[in-house]
Parts: sequence; C-alpha cells; structure tokens
Amino acid sequence: MESLLNRLMRDRTLSDKDLRVLLESRDASLAEDLRRAAQETAVSRFGKQVYLRGLIEWSNVCRNDCLYCGIRRSNGNVARYTLTAREILNNCSRAWDMGLRTFVLQGGENPRGAEDLVEVVAQIRAQWPDVAITLSLGELPFDLYARLRQAGADRFLLRHETATPEHYARLHPAGMTIEHRLGCLRELRRLGFQTGMGMMVGSPWQTTENLIADLRLLEDFRPEMIGIGPFIPQKDTPLGEFPAGSPELTLKLYSIVRLMLPDALIPSTTALSTQMAGGRLAGILAGANVIMPNFSPMDRREDYSIYDGKPAADGAETLEKIKEELAAAGYSINPVRGDYLQH
Ligand code: SAH
Repeated sequence: MESLLNRLMRDRTLSDKDLRVLLESRDASLAEDLRRAAQETAVSRFGKQVYLRGLIEWSNVCRNDCLYCGIRRSNGNVARYTLTAREILNNCSRAWDMGLRTFVLQGGENPRGAEDLVEVVAQIRAQWPDVAITLSLGELPFDLYARLRQAGADRFLLRHETATPEHYARLHPAGMTIEHRLGCLRELRRLGFQTGMGMMVGSPWQTTENLIADLRLLEDFRPEMIGIGPFIPQKDTPLGEFPAGSPELTLKLYSIVRLMLPDALIPSTTALSTQMAGGRLAGILAGANVIMPNFSPMDRREDYSIYDGKPAADGAETLEKIKEELAAAGYSINPVRGDYLQH
C-alpha cells in the first residue's frame, strides 16, 4: 500500500482518516519523514532562504474580549497604549536600516484607532515606496479595510483561530462567529490584500477533528499566508489555567500545511519559539519560510503580553541570532519584500 506521506505529496491532500492518523501518530520516523518532505518542498520553492517581517505592535487597545488573549478588553491589568505616528515611523525606520522590507502593524481591535492608521499607512507608503505593509488589526468595518488598502497596505493577517463553529464560540465572547471572521477574510481578499489565516494549536477543548476542519478550511480558502502557533495561557485571562499547546504538533502542522499549499508564506512563530528552545529554526526546517522579529519599542513590550512568557528581545538582537542560526543550518535571509508567488 502506498504510504500516507506519498499520497499527501502527490495529491496535496489526504482523507480525514489519514489526517487523523498523521496528526495523532507518535511514530518518530514518520514525523521525521514528514518534516523532511516539507523542508524539501519549501526549499524547492524558496531556496534555503527565509523572508523577514518587522513586527510593530502599534496598540494594545482592544474592544474585543477573546478568552485566550492577554490584551482582551476585560483584562484590567494592562496599561493601554497606542503608538504615535512618529513612534511607528521611527521603528519602521530602524527595521528598514536593518534590511527589513515588510513592516507588520499589529494591534488590538480598535476601529477608532485604526482610523488614524490610514494616514500612517499613507506616510509609510510615501517614505518607503517599495516595502510591503502588512496589517493585523482584527475585524473592522469593511469601508475601513478599503481605506487602509487604498492608503497602500498590501497584506492583512486575520487568523481564523478555529474553523469549528462550536469550538470558536467557546474561545470567543458571545456574538463573535467564525462566519463573520470568514466574511472579513473574503472581503480583504476582494479588496486585493494578500490574506493570512491560521489557528492556535492546542487551544482549550481542541480535538483532532477541529484541526482537520482547520486544514480543510485552509485548503479551501488557500490563503497566501498561514500563521500557526501553539496556544499559550495568559494568567489574567479566563483560559489562564489551561495547558499550552504542543510544539511538536505545531511543527507537524507546518509540514502538513507546506505539503498541502506549497507556495504559502508560513512564519515560524514567536509562540513556537516561546514554547520550544530552538523553535524558530525547527519551524524553518519543518517547512516554514518566514521569521518576524519584533521592532516594537522596548518600553511597551510588557504591555503587549498576549500570552505569558512572550520574549522581550529587540529586533536588532533577534536578527543577529537569526542570522547565526540560519547560517549554521546552511540557510540565509532573502532580503526582499517576499510577496506571495505562485510557482
Ligand atoms: N487583534 C488582532 C491581532 C492581535 S492577536 C486579531 O485579532 O487578529 C494576534 C494573534 O495572537 C491571534 O490571532 C491569536 O492567534 C494569537 N494569540 C492570542 N492570544 C494567544 C495565546 N494566549 N496563545 C497563543 N496565541 C495567542
């Protein structure tokens, strides 16, 4: 019988039954074969190179109340901040000087604050015509998405978190639905954004069936970017006592997703490196091809604690480490915008 892995590589998909076997398997040699196949696929598309994205956490003000997230509205232990246009541009400038050609502005869900970002995006676009501007600002009114796009934003990250409606409802406040999330993603795509989705691994109550539904959604929507990281409890949230998700399962998902969607831009996430020493490189060797060093101002870092233990290293320092790690594995940085390309 043809091996499961051969079927995945040939068909770029698997049956639910096979996915369950793969996700639940504890067979180390199967895991290693999967990892190697995914690494080879990534190398065939991108070479032994990774793209960088400079992350700027522009604001922790949030109207939303996601049960897992440390900057949820109900968390009174957060000192709320919003960076000024000048602070944002200064940090973009720092990232630019270190060779970064994608800036990611991420923050809480805050439509009023995001209104002000329209002008900031236009300023970034004017100052650096060639960079990619990525936004990660949650669910916003569609006309605001449109104005951000018009101002020059190229990409938008909006993880779906979990594709199963009942599971989604347990992780989010009343009224938030996966249907609305997907409506936002479809609109973002219609507006011409490269769109990113993805899920947390090992979030409370997650089953293998939930993860299979996530993979089916990714296969169906075919996002340009796919962000996957382990759930990590944050002590001031209602889910703060749940265990963290498994880094090994996260790596396995990078590999499966790479084989299903070979051209996708897949970051080796900060949450993964938080849970696993050497996780950043392990992610790359499992099929990821993007790393996102943090260029937020150091004095705001502790206020953007979406999960506990989030590293506070500055982008400059991280960049040095990344270069060393990559070089030791025969990899290097590809110093370009790194847009989605169909190979
Ligand atoms: N407010 C924006 C972006 C900020 S949160 C939005 O909703 O998209 C960015 C991502 O961090 C979320 O999509 C979620 O997947 C992840 N995240 C939040 N809390 C987390 C936790 N406790 N553990 C792991 N990842 C978490």
